[in-house]
Amino acid sequence: VPTVSIFGVPFCKWGMKETVSYLSEVVSSGRPHQVITANPIMMMAAKEDPAYKKMMQQADLIVPDGTGVVWAAKMGGDPVTERVPGFDLLHELMKQGDRHGWRVYLLGASKEVIQEAARRLALQYPTAEIVGYRDGFFGPEQDREVIDNIVQAAPHLMFVARGADTQEPWIAKHKEELGVPVIMGVGGSFDVISG
Ligand code: UDP
Repeated sequence: VPTVSIFGVPFCKWGMKETVSYLSEVVSSGRPHQVITANPIMMMAAKEDPAYKKMMQQADLIVPDGTGVVWAAKMGGDPVTERVPGFDLLHELMKQGDRHGWRVYLLGASKEVIQEAARRLALQYPTAEIVGYRDGFFGPEQDREVIDNIVQAAPHLMFVARGADTQEPWIAKHKEELGVPVIMGVGGSFDVISG
């Protein structure tokens, strides 16, 4: 993966098309990958907190979501192809899931929001199979139960929305036991999808 370092965070230089085709190959390979769509809040967290920065550096793919990143890469003389917004990437991956019949798990947001987001995504992408969903309001004591549930559903693709301070470290910590090929943090996307 070709990257450019911005404040020590390695951003993928690919545009949407290459990113989607790479992640489709990842789904076939089966190895867990953490995808981060880094926003300015995460960049600030990486600057302030070495542990958060290290977590980001160990992610498998960081896409340039945000005009600031695109600008900074260009100013540094090592530009990225284009902005890759997380919300668009979610939909592009759902399109692939619809084409190939991927199993999809949705984790995060409130009970009402995630239920409605699951309903709408199932309507929009009928051949992608939503194999499970649950809200994002649980503590570490429930991690075991949540993870077991996901492992049983064996998704190819999983989106996680729990707020940037929680979702990315949670994915990083559990990605190996989750064993899901593509795991991506999506912040407020479920709230937008549910309307
Ligand atoms: N969220 C969640 N569990 C939490 C905190 C937040 O599921 O403990 C959800 C929230 O309902 C929303 C999404 O995570 O759907 C993003 O939340 P917010 O915009 O507050 O987070 P930020 O990205 O601004 O930190």
